[in-house]
Amino acid sequence: MNDAALPAAPWPEMRLDEFMQRAVSHYYATRDPFTDFTTAPEISQVFGELLGGWIVVTWVQLGRPAPFRLVEAGPGRGTLMQDAWRLISRTAPACAAAARLHLIETSPYLRGAQKSRLPHATWHDRLAELPDGPVMLLANEFLDTLPLRQFVRQEAGWAERYVLDGKFTLRPAEPPVPPPPGGGDIFEICEAARAWVAELSDRLRAQGGAALLIDYGYGESATGDSLQAFRGSKYADPLADPGEADITAHVDFGVSAEIARAHGLHAWGPVTQGALLTRLGLPERISRLIAENPEQEAALTKAAHRLTHGEQMGTLFKALAVTAANFAPAGFE
Ligand code: SAH
Repeated sequence: MNDAALPAAPWPEMRLDEFMQRAVSHYYATRDPFTDFTTAPEISQVFGELLGGWIVVTWVQLGRPAPFRLVEAGPGRGTLMQDAWRLISRTAPACAAAARLHLIETSPYLRGAQKSRLPHATWHDRLAELPDGPVMLLANEFLDTLPLRQFVRQEAGWAERYVLDGKFTLRPAEPPVPPPPGGGDIFEICEAARAWVAELSDRLRAQGGAALLIDYGYGESATGDSLQAFRGSKYADPLADPGEADITAHVDFGVSAEIARAHGLHAWGPVTQGALLTRLGLPERISRLIAENPEQEAALTKAAHRLTHGEQMGTLFKALAVTAANFAPAGFE
C-alpha cells in the first residue's frame, strides 16, 4: 500500500468499496491517524493490560501451547500490544517465552511506530503470511476500516452506491442482491471483513487457537448507512478529500459470529466492551493504580468511564471471541 494506490485527482467513478479501500490505504500509509481519532488503547494502558490478561488465561485454557503465534491485526501505534506484552511477561513468563509476536499491518508509516515499541515482532501484510502454529489473535478497531458496499432500494429494484466527485452515484445492482437483514431501504455488506473472518476461522480450525475481535458495531445485523469519517477529531464528509480522513463503518458482529460457526469454530458473544472490561477486572485494576498514583485519580477515573460507560465506548463497542476448542473464554462465561 502506498501512494500508487491513490489515483490522480479527479478520481474516476468507482464502487464504494474500491473508493474506501484506496482512500483508507492512503490515509494510513501517510500519517499518524491518532490526531484524527483516539482508540481504547490510547485512552488507557489498562485496556492493553486487561487484554494481556485475557491472552494468559486463554493460553492456559488452550493447554499452554508452546510455541504459539501471538498476533495483532491493525496494531496502530503498537500501544495495545506493548501494554499487553508488559503484563504477559511480568505475570506469566512461561506464556511470554512461548509467544512469537506477529503484527499484521499494511501501513509502512505505522510499522515504524510499532517497531519502536515492539522491536521483537515480525510484520506481515496478510493473515495468510503467518507461519504455522496455534494462534492467539487480538484486533481492536481493525475490521471497521475494511471496505464495504452499500445497496439502496429503488422502485426498479436494488441499486449500488458508487462515488464520483465527492458524491454518491447509483448504478443498478448486479444480481443476486442478498436480502437485507430485517428489511429497510439501505444496507451494507463488508465482503472484506467476511472474507477475513472466514480466513481467520479456517486457520484457527486447522491449527488451533483463539481470537478476540473488538470494534464498534451491530450485535445483530441491521440495515442503514453507517459510513462515517473523522478528521481533526470531528465528523467529516466521508467522500470529500479522499485519503485525508479516517473512513470507517459499523462491524456486523452477528454475521462475523455466523461465519466463524460455519467454518467450524465456537463463537462467543458479542458482549459489550463495558461488560468485557469489567469482567476482566477493570475496576480492581483502576483502584490499584489510583492507590499507587493518587495524583492521577481524576485521569484514571475519567479513562475508566470512557472505556466502559454506556454513553461513551461501553455499549457501542463490542467484543466477539472465537475459539477452535469448546471453552468459554474469560469475559464470555
Ligand atoms: N488497533 C489500533 C489501531 C486501529 S486503526 C488501536 O486500537 O489503536 C486501524 C489499523 O489497521 C491501523 O494500524 C491501520 O494501518 C491498519 N489497517 C487498515 N487496513 C488494513 C489492512 N487491510 N491490513 C492490515 N492492516 C490494516
